Amino acid sequence: MKRIGVLALQGAIREHVKMLEALNCEVIQVKHKKDLINLDGLVLPGGESTTMRKLLDRFDLLEPIRELAQQGLPMFGTCAGLILLASHLVDDEAHLAVMDVIVARNSFGRQVDSFEIQLDIPKIGIDIPAVFIRAPHIKAVGKNVEILAEYEGKIILARDNHLLGCSFHPELTGDSRILEYFVSSMV
Ligand code: GLN
Repeated sequence: MKRIGVLALQGAIREHVKMLEALNCEVIQVKHKKDLINLDGLVLPGGESTTMRKLLDRFDLLEPIRELAQQGLPMFGTCAGLILLASHLVDDEAHLAVMDVIVARNSFGRQVDSFEIQLDIPKIGIDIPAVFIRAPHIKAVGKNVEILAEYEGKIILARDNHLLGCSFHPELTGDSRILEYFVSSMV
């Protein structure tokens, strides 16, 4: 059984936990450094990246998570989680700065403009629902980054070796194929 951590400081935690448990993972809610021991993978959920960054600092988790990413632990950042992973942010200082992408925040309008689309992702499947809530997008990728999905000309899902990042919330739908892709082909 794979042991997957979900960063549990703020944001859409419960939905990831439920979906990962349904995929037969042992799920650890990560709030302290000790929760990072012996993980096979880590999910950084969506929420609000500025708040999450403050909490990462307060709980002394920024450096330990960065080190694990540098050592090759598979990580999946969704929405605010993608913002945390990015090596560069437009208009902001980077946070974990481990994934070779430039990310722009709030690229699809405000909270009231939240929307859902169906995505065809050749590597994963067709008609995959994706929920966008004040979502970021990936403006540019480094040479080893694989672009997995785009929407309206904007990159919204990409993989940098063991790091996966998406603009949207895959866990707020009933469709677990993107999380399953992370767990089964990256972890
Ligand atoms: N716009 C948010 C931020 O900058 C991310 C939104 C989300 O995770 N749904 O943190």
